[in-house]
Amino acid sequence: MQLNPEEVLPSRSCGEWVQGSGPGVQVLHSVNGNPLTLIDTAGINFSDMRSYARNTGGPALRQHTLHERALMLKKVGLALMESKELFYEYSTATGATRTDSWVDIEGGIGTLLNYSSRARKEIPNNDVWLDGVVEPLSADNTFSAQHILTPLEGVAIHINAYNFPCWGMLEKFAPTFLAGMPSIIKPASQTAFLTHLMIRHIIDLEILPEGSLQLVSGSIGDLLDLVDGQDVITFTGSAATGQKLRARSSIIKNSVRFTMEADSLNSAVLAPDAGPDSKEFELFVREVVREMTVKAGQKCTAIRRVMVPNQHCDALQNALIEKLRSIKPGDPSLKETRMGPLVSLAQRTDVMHCVNELVAEARIIFGDTNQPDLSSGDAELGGFMNPVLMLCENATDAKRVHELEAFGPVATIMPYGSVDEAIELVKLGQGSLVSSVFTHDQKNAAQLVRGIASANGRVMIGNRLSAKTSTGHGSPLPMLIHGGPGRAGGGEELGGVRAIKHYMQRTAVQGTPTILSAVTGQWQKGCSVRDDNRHPFRKSLSELQIGDHVVTQSRQVTLEDIEHFADFTGDKFYAHMDDEAARANPFFDGRVAHGYLVVSFAAGLFVDPEPGPVLANFGVDSLRFLTPVNVGDSLKVALTCKQINPRVSESYGEVRWDCSVVNQDASVVAQYDVLTMVAKHWPLQD
Ligand code: NAP
Repeated sequence: MQLNPEEVLPSRSCGEWVQGSGPGVQVLHSVNGNPLTLIDTAGINFSDMRSYARNTGGPALRQHTLHERALMLKKVGLALMESKELFYEYSTATGATRTDSWVDIEGGIGTLLNYSSRARKEIPNNDVWLDGVVEPLSADNTFSAQHILTPLEGVAIHINAYNFPCWGMLEKFAPTFLAGMPSIIKPASQTAFLTHLMIRHIIDLEILPEGSLQLVSGSIGDLLDLVDGQDVITFTGSAATGQKLRARSSIIKNSVRFTMEADSLNSAVLAPDAGPDSKEFELFVREVVREMTVKAGQKCTAIRRVMVPNQHCDALQNALIEKLRSIKPGDPSLKETRMGPLVSLAQRTDVMHCVNELVAEARIIFGDTNQPDLSSGDAELGGFMNPVLMLCENATDAKRVHELEAFGPVATIMPYGSVDEAIELVKLGQGSLVSSVFTHDQKNAAQLVRGIASANGRVMIGNRLSAKTSTGHGSPLPMLIHGGPGRAGGGEELGGVRAIKHYMQRTAVQGTPTILSAVTGQWQKGCSVRDDNRHPFRKSLSELQIGDHVVTQSRQVTLEDIEHFADFTGDKFYAHMDDEAARANPFFDGRVAHGYLVVSFAAGLFVDPEPGPVLANFGVDSLRFLTPVNVGDSLKVALTCKQINPRVSESYGEVRWDCSVVNQDASVVAQYDVLTMVAKHWPLQD
């Protein structure tokens, strides 16, 4: 390990690695107590860091399109994965076993890669990201509105907890970077050496625009006093610290976005149907033990409160104790160790203090709090402790067990009588990141989940059918929101591309359709169109413009067409086949053409068949049949290029076409977007 216990861990400020000028505070190895490094940021100018992010990082980031930024992230993620063994080596010094570190290191890098790919798939590669649909504001289509998202022009300050030095940093950095906003990362001092190592790797790759990523290894000084309404602060840590920071006058005065991910008293509920012989009981026991012992219980999502029906309480206690007995904490660098120490001796003291307070309401039924029983390691030097299981027999009337977070391998069993009582117990936590419900009974699942959802950011239902595929109670996933109401901080992170929007401003823009389309880069109804007598399917992306337009010839729909289509496809729904039955239907005046026949005829009308730059059709969006098509009606199509989305790393891009099928009275019979892949150049170039 390259850390020098005599040296201050560098911060990354204004394009340079700098060290604080004070004496520094020692950081100790979690397992053996050896000094690792010093933490100090005295003398670092935080105002300069903020200006550098805003004036250098922000503009550099915004020069790139969102897809270009996503591809940079992908390169970074792949390169980090190649160096993962080094991160694992350092991670041991935080007390993490290989399994614990996997969540932090590979889970973090995986989240980064997931965001890169998700952004390229789900967000068009435009300068402006559109939010929702066009809102027509006038009957004659001369005034409308569109919500747009643009990057905030300040800096995102990410303050992280000690328990996930890699994942915590990456899950926040990825959406911030994609949004086009620079980040200043402030990891918790205790494990900042691992975050520092990863950020140094990222910076050394020279892939990211200068100023897009800075690091504070230690105290954040006056940085939070300098913020304004273009900045964002995210905080992950204890509720006590978060509430203190959120109340800073600079944050309140400037309405600075402040996302808080705090601790919470997460629950796991065993439903009444899940008796001791059921698969759900077995899964529940496994999950509770896993949540108590992974990262030695130092997970914000860990199960702290275990709700069990009165009649299954004895069986559950016995099953949990039997499993916990086999887990002896030890040196996390050894393969056989299933649970490492807490991050520090001070953290163990904190946890013990909490356990001593909880004893007023709950009794310890497993775990010696005086004499740790270890498989290896030294409890004098590292924060080793045994898992502690408690039982609170009257949890409905208890208080501390629902509010005091022992941030270690500690959980409390709470027996309940009815399902309603279990729901009340979960809610006594005043808001959680996650709860899980173990049941194979649909009624119990519906009652419990509907009852507790308002108090949780995520609910995981475990049962025999998902036993092999479930991602578990404790794992936040990039595609699902992470956060929770009330006690959990009231914040939201992750949740797929939603997370990117936290770093952007949503603006409702109103104007004439043509002006709006110049702003948004998307054609909309009421805009001018261009018909230059060249079918738009003959144009490559280098020639095509939004508003390029073609109106087709007409085609009459006959009874033979309808019958042929019915025979050919097998769709003999009565409205197409039986005049009397069709008339009895409130929507039709007789037999009508199939909607899919209309769509097929439309394709026959607008497609330009010769080989050309249009490479493939990959679907339609928002298809609506608006007016019935009767025998004898004449159809024609207006096809207009609506949005062009070139792919950065491919020779083609997606084109979205507005497709309106109208009848002889100019009534729209079908409206939808046609989605195609179009070559950037034609003929195709190598
Ligand atoms: P913490 O003591 O609240 O510290 C969190 C972060 O805040 C650290 O980076 C800390 O830096 C910083 N900080 C503390 N005082 C500050 C101040 N006055 N100004 C600016 N920054 C300040 O929490 P922790 O002990 O690191 O982490 C454990 C807690 O985090 C647990 O309660 C856990 O439940 C919670 N957590 C929540 C989530 C979630 O997603 N909801 C995830 C992980 C952990 P220093 O280390 O330099 O003091």
